[in-house]
Amino acid sequence: MKIDVLTIFPEMYLPLSSGIIGKALEKGLAEVNIVNIRDYSSNKHKKTDDYPFGGGAGMVMTPQPLHDAIQAVDPSRKALRIYLSPKGARLDQEAVERLSKLDRIVLVNGAYEGIDERVIELDIDEELSIGDYVLTSGDLASMVVIDAVMRYIPGVLGSDRSTEEESFSSELLEYPQYTRPMSFMGLDVPEVLVSGNHAEIAKWRLNESIKLTAERRPDLLEKYNNKSNSGSCREDSSAARKK
Ligand code: SAM
Repeated sequence: MKIDVLTIFPEMYLPLSSGIIGKALEKGLAEVNIVNIRDYSSNKHKKTDDYPFGGGAGMVMTPQPLHDAIQAVDPSRKALRIYLSPKGARLDQEAVERLSKLDRIVLVNGAYEGIDERVIELDIDEELSIGDYVLTSGDLASMVVIDAVMRYIPGVLGSDRSTEEESFSSELLEYPQYTRPMSFMGLDVPEVLVSGNHAEIAKWRLNESIKLTAERRPDLLEKYNNKSNSGSCREDSSAARKK
């Protein structure tokens, strides 16, 4: 997968060179190409913003540098072009999995009051938001997309099963995790986890997942129950909670 990131703040992407994502990029499992929108400005001062028509606070990113930068990275419109925006559809695990199957993505980042609407009309395929709050620019949102999507690229995580059993992968939040020591500050690891009985461990984990989801995300539990009633989940939550 190749991800082109269009930004006026290229220095914000330094964190991508560390941790699991940094290693994956180093190994060539995916490519992230950071493009400075300013380099495409035809303005002699390399300006990328101007006052909004109609008045109002702040500046708006002008269409020319953005349009030219998008054309430069994706001249034959092969990539999915995404504008990170608080007005976009909410990013969720389903969207992440869908994006992870693509060969090419262009992430377009706004700043100030946003970008000229005509760029969205001409050049953007979809708008994505990372939540109901407003950031100063799209860059942190882009990094969230890159991190979440890259976890689904084969080889990026130590074990591909990591994405199969975690929160949201089956509409349920993940069960609690424990590691050594067995006892910490008077709190013990649940016995079943050291029983060696894999069927019992699986049952305990499912039950814990269902309890946690019922407490914190009843909306997800409803989806899970609908799926299990249609036969695609492993167990109905009411049955599991009785155990
Ligand atoms: N005036 C815009 C509005 O009210 O919708 C907000 C502009 S915001 C200050 C600047 C840029 O940050 C946006 O163009 C967008 O790229 C990005 N951004 C802000 N919040 C975001 C969010 N929740 N998800 C994704 N991108 C966001």
